[in-house]
Amino acid sequence: MRTAIIGAGIGGLCAAIGLQRAGADVTVFERASALEPVGSGLSIFANGLTALDSLGLGDAFREITTTEARQLVGGQRRPDGTWLAKIPDGAVDELRIVHRADLHRLLLGALRPGTVRLGTAVSGVCSDGRTLTTSDGPGRFDVIVAADGIRSKVRASWPADPGIRYSGYSTWRGVTAEPVDLHGEAGETWGHRERFGLAPLADGRIYWFAVASMPADSEIDDEYAEVQRRFGGWHAPIPEIIAATERSTVFRLDINDLAGAVPTFRRGRCVLLGDAAHAMTPTSGRAAVRRWRMLRRSPPCSNASRVTRPPTHPSSMPHSRPTTVCVASAPSRSPGALEPWAPSRTCEVVRVRACETRCCG
Ligand SMILES: Cc1cc2nc3c(=O)[nH]c(=O)nc-3n(C[C@H](O)[C@H](O)[C@H](O)COP(=O)(O)OP(=O)(O)OC[C@H]3O[C@@H](n4cnc5c(N)ncnc54)[C@H](O)[C@@H]3O)c2cc1C
Repeated sequence: MRTAIIGAGIGGLCAAIGLQRAGADVTVFERASALEPVGSGLSIFANGLTALDSLGLGDAFREITTTEARQLVGGQRRPDGTWLAKIPDGAVDELRIVHRADLHRLLLGALRPGTVRLGTAVSGVCSDGRTLTTSDGPGRFDVIVAADGIRSKVRASWPADPGIRYSGYSTWRGVTAEPVDLHGEAGETWGHRERFGLAPLADGRIYWFAVASMPADSEIDDEYAEVQRRFGGWHAPIPEIIAATERSTVFRLDINDLAGAVPTFRRGRCVLLGDAAHAMTPTSGRAAVRRWRMLRRSPPCSNASRVTRPPTHPSSMPHSRPTTVCVASAPSRSPGALEPWAPSRTCEVVRVRACETRCCG
């Protein structure tokens, strides 16, 4: 089965690995000339590990990560360091923090050499979902997987693309240049319209993010200085973590999600995957994991006409049992109006459990 995948992000690479191992002839088209993953760290929970196991990558992933994050006291603190809430012992089965660059290396290494064509932007997919156009010319495939991210060109060319919407907040991210002692505590600290989160990487460096509500496209002259100004007076070790981060590596991203439901994830033989299909805000958690979960149970596809998706509300979902629907006719998940303070993690755990994509012959 000749399969084209558009985009070498986490979603596209995982799809490529799964399909290649199932015997498909896979080509990944990536517009970037080099893969430099944007972002710093990712939190991966038990469901992500399970999905990586099914791709045959679980052990390799465990080798480059540790279980330390799970052993720390976690929860939410105030800027003065007093705890608002602590996550009870044993509430989290598994939590590993991985640097995005390490994850990308792992995924790329699992593909046959030559699978990813860098510097090859896809400019369009025909409505039959089998022909795509790149700068090198057209190509015809049995299946096309559009994993081209939240600003998906493929989705934008479909009728009723909801487009994206700004969440109301922007996020700085960074990794310290050297290990920092967390004194056994991690998690998030909540201020007024501001939030700071931290978690340890396997080598002791700290992955952190800082969140602030602000208008979209806000211009800030010195991002590092802004983080220091906003969070430099918060409890230890936040000031130390900021100081241990190289100024030039701190970057900020406005957070968006889809402005509404995508009426279908499939058009002809082309299917949307990952952020292209259902981008959500990080407060909804583990979107990258969702990419793997969606692929975990995918057998070799002879067509892409059916997928398993979450129902619109977790309470309508049988525990852990995926709900299979015909993507061509079913409404897709409606992204909620997610504010910075939408800690619906319990719901999300339930929802993620059911979020598996399956192509049925
Ligand atoms: C601040 C933040 C924190 C997050 N934290 C977590 C977390 O802790 N855990 C978690 O699970 N998830 C997290 N996520 C979500 C996760 O990062 C995304 O859901 C995931 O990376 C999306 O992967 P993707 O492959 O669908 O899309 P992308 O990573 O966006 O990849 C799309 C790829 O397609 C390429 N592309 C685009 N257009 C074209 C084209 N026309 N032709 C060829 N190539 C093209 C792009 O260059 C890119 O490489 C976070 C997201 C954000 C913003």
